[in-house]
Amino acid sequence: LRSELDAKRDEATETTDGRVLTLSANIEFLEELHQVKRSGAKGVGLYRTEFLLLNGSEMPDENQQAEAYSKVAKEVSPDVVIVRTLDAGGDKLPIESLTEPEPNPFLGWRGIRVSLARPAMFRDQLRAILRASAFGKLAVMFPLVSGLSELLQAREMLQLCMDEFDAEGIAYDKAIPVGVMIEVPSAAVCADLLAPHADFFSIGTNDLIQYTVAVDRVNPHVANLYKPTHPAVIRLIKNTVDAGSAHGIWTGVCGEMAGDIRLTPLLLGLGVQELSVSPKILPTVGQVIRSLNYEQCKVAAETSLAQCSSRKILDITLGIARECY
Ligand code: PEP
Ligand code: MG
Repeated sequence: LRSELDAKRDEATETTDGRVLTLSANIEFLEELHQVKRSGAKGVGLYRTEFLLLNGSEMPDENQQAEAYSKVAKEVSPDVVIVRTLDAGGDKLPIESLTEPEPNPFLGWRGIRVSLARPAMFRDQLRAILRASAFGKLAVMFPLVSGLSELLQAREMLQLCMDEFDAEGIAYDKAIPVGVMIEVPSAAVCADLLAPHADFFSIGTNDLIQYTVAVDRVNPHVANLYKPTHPAVIRLIKNTVDAGSAHGIWTGVCGEMAGDIRLTPLLLGLGVQELSVSPKILPTVGQVIRSLNYEQCKVAAETSLAQCSSRKILDITLGIARECY
């Protein structure tokens, strides 16, 4: 099976009726870069930059970050790398000088909130991403956005960095795409307000699920309630995709749900255009997409949206999965 999958690696990830999906890789460490091309990924859909903190409790400076991002940009070129700005806090690595103990870390200081509260650190990261954008194709993406004002503030900081570079004569990609992670229910509900100010959406289902059903994603006592096919979750995904298409932008999924092949028919049917998954599972997901019929998935997704339980929705997507692979 492995060699069969290898042979298919460079084929387009297209359904049997011609719907093309972008299948990209999630990475955390530079060491994973060699797996990206080998897996057949079309670029990196999520580069989690908080892992740069592993070597210390502070974010590396602008130069060190620019070096890391340029390496990724060059290696993955001509495909795109979506660099997610720092998402510390919650269950992530703490930044010693940044996070004080909080009673509710998942509802507290993490994601874009930290970046906006630490403009000097945020500026360093955005400047580093912009500098690296001269060496390949990069996109920037903001985590844990809960509403329009955060997105506008983040964009303002990005613009400020671009203006500085224009004045300093430093090369960067002036058309660098700016994406928003949709992982807070308020962002999914208000996706129509965010879409005019974004170039793409990437749904972070790990967080979106936990915040939608109020289940800590790392607490085993409530793990049975953590349901990717909960009717509320799939309605939020649908709302996001629809708001994106109404404004001419694409929507992807980069949470674990994107790599669960039982759910591929459902995500495809809901209109998702990109899946970003771990390089290990990527060839299998590619094979699954190639075996599916988009029209059939669309009908299944419509039926799913009218269901009253996660079990019923899971059964519908499983039905197609069993039939096709
Ligand atoms: C997510 O929340 O689904 C996601 C991809 O981001 P992370 O797992 O890094 O929070
Ligand atoms: Mg997340």
